[in-house]
Amino acid sequence: MMYDVVIVGSGPAGLTAAIYTSRAGLKTLVAAGMLWGGNLMLTTEVENFPGFENGILGPELMEQMRKQAERFGAELVFENATSLDLKSKPFKVTVGNMGHEAKAVIIAAGASAKWLGLESETRLRGRGVSVCATCDAAFFRNKKVVVVGGGDTALEEAFVLSRVASEVKIIHRRDKLRATKFLQEKAFENPKISFVWNSTVKEILGKNIVEGIKLHNVVSGEECVLECDGVFVAIGHKPNTEIFKEQVELDAAGYIIVKEHTRTNIDGVFAAGDVTDPRYRQAIAAAGSGCKAAIDAEKYLIGQ
Ligand SMILES: Cc1cc2nc3c(=O)[nH]c(=O)nc-3n(C[C@H](O)[C@H](O)[C@H](O)COP(=O)(O)OP(=O)(O)OC[C@H]3O[C@@H](n4cnc5c(N)ncnc54)[C@H](O)[C@@H]3O)c2cc1C
Repeated sequence: MMYDVVIVGSGPAGLTAAIYTSRAGLKTLVAAGMLWGGNLMLTTEVENFPGFENGILGPELMEQMRKQAERFGAELVFENATSLDLKSKPFKVTVGNMGHEAKAVIIAAGASAKWLGLESETRLRGRGVSVCATCDAAFFRNKKVVVVGGGDTALEEAFVLSRVASEVKIIHRRDKLRATKFLQEKAFENPKISFVWNSTVKEILGKNIVEGIKLHNVVSGEECVLECDGVFVAIGHKPNTEIFKEQVELDAAGYIIVKEHTRTNIDGVFAAGDVTDPRYRQAIAAAGSGCKAAIDAEKYLIGQ
C-alpha cells in the first residue's frame, strides 16, 4: 500500500503530525507501536499541557489525540515498525509483517527513560516515583524528595525540585559526581540540596504512595531507610532509534539529528519529538515539533 506519509510512533509528536497530515488530505499511516500513546500513557495527572485548566490524565489526553487523528482519516496500526528502507524512493516501511511504501516518513519514536528496575518502582510510578521533575515537581511542594543519579540530568532535576520541595537528597552510587564542575558547584551551594554517597536504592517503600527508600551502602554494606515523599530517577534516557541507525544520521547519544527545521539528512524523512530532543522532553514541545514535521512533509510533497 502506498501512503503519502508514514509516521513511526504515536506519542504527542506522532499523533500531532498525524492530525496535521491527515487533515491536509495526505494519506497517512501511523505505525503506532505495540505500546501506543508514548510516555504520557505511563503517567497520571498532566497539569502543564495547555488547554486543560484542571489537568488531564495522560492516557485520556492520548486517547483524545488518537481519536482526533482518526477523525481526519489517519490509519493507525498498533504494531511496531520493524524495518525501514530509506535509501531509495518510495521509502519502504515494514509494520509488524506488512510492507508499506511512503512518499515521506516522519520519525516520532520517542525516547525511554532508564529506570532502576525495581518491582516497587514500577508499582509506585505516578504515585511518588517519577522520571521528570519539570512534569511532576509541583506535586511535591514543601515535601521531601530524593533524586537518584550523579550526572548533569540528576543535578538539573534537583535544581528544579529545590524550588518547591522542602529538601532534596541526591543518592549517588559513587563518592563523586559525573556532572559538570559548574553544576556541581551550584549543587553544593544550594542549601536545600544534600548528598548520600556510595549508595544504591534497594527498594522504594510504601503501599500506595511513596513513604521512603531503603538504601544499600556499597562500601560498608549497611542498609538504612530514608523517609521521603518522592523519588526522581535521573539515570538517563535512551532514544528509540535502534531500527533507524543504519538509515538516518544520529548523534553520539543516538538522537536523530535534525537540520533545517525537522529535516533529517535524508530528503523526505523528517523527525519530531523526544527522538530528536535530549533537552526539552515535554509533551507540548513534542506536539509542537510533530506539527512542524507534518507541515515540512506537506511542503516537501508539494515540491515533488
Ligand atoms: C512518567 C512520565 C511522566 C511525564 N509527565 C509529563 C507531563 O506531565 N507533562 C509533559 O509535558 N511531559 C511529561 N512527560 C514527558 C512526555 O511524556 C514526553 O516529552 C512526550 O511523550 C514525548 O513525546 P514523543 O511523541 O516524542 O515520544 P513518546 O511519547 O515517547 O512516544 C513515542 C512512541 O513511539 C513508539 N515507538 C517507538 N519505536 C517504535 C517503532 N519502531 N514502531 C512504532 N512505534 C514506535 C513508542 O512505543 C511510543 O509509543 C512525562 C514522561 C514520563 C516518562
